[in-house]
Amino acid sequence: MTFSPAGLGQALLDKSDEEIVNSHLADLDQILGHGFADSVVEATPFRWKDGSPYCFPGRAKLQPTLLRGTGRVFLAGDYLGTLYTESAITTGFSAAQEAASLLASDRQQRARAWTPTASPNPTRPATERKSA
Ligand SMILES: Cc1cc2nc3c(=O)[nH]c(=O)nc-3n(C[C@H](O)[C@H](O)[C@H](O)COP(=O)(O)OP(=O)(O)OC[C@H]3O[C@@H](n4cnc5c(N)ncnc54)[C@H](O)[C@@H]3O)c2cc1C
Repeated sequence: MTFSPAGLGQALLDKSDEEIVNSHLADLDQILGHGFADSVVEATPFRWKDGSPYCFPGRAKLQPTLLRGTGRVFLAGDYLGTLYTESAITTGFSAAQEAASLLASDRQQRARAWTPTASPNPTRPATERKSA
């Protein structure tokens, strides 16, 4: 996959598919060596007008808050790391593990709070029965 970000992409938006493809093939030839373009067997251009959003000035000041752990909210996404898919995947796994761990702790605490002799319904913890 190749792509032209920001102004480079904007300059191609109104070009024909053929012109866009040829522009990229010429770049590939220049970087990878003449003749490389001949090895490309398929090319399909897509135009994403808002494909690469810009952050507003001062956005970096939010980062410490985003990275700080919270009680029961688990964030995931590329903005927590490298801005690439790898961060999206690793932070997604971490968030899922933290949520699963918290739920497991909750279950253990409920099981400890349950007193079998005092409960007519063994599925309900003692703390819930008192308030019911
Ligand atoms: C042009 C381009 C080329 C790229 N090339 C590469 C590459 O070669 N390799 C690479 O690793 N990465 C690349 N990336 C980056 C990669 O696409 C991102 O890092 C990755 O998609 C981030 O995944 P994510 O799940 O964190 O966020 P996203 O994929 O952005 O998913 C976030 C989702 O949340 C939804 N959403 C947002 N706000 C709300 C809301 N308020 N309510 C409900 N839903 C909401 C959005 O619609 C979106 O579907 C590229 C990105 C671009 C734009």
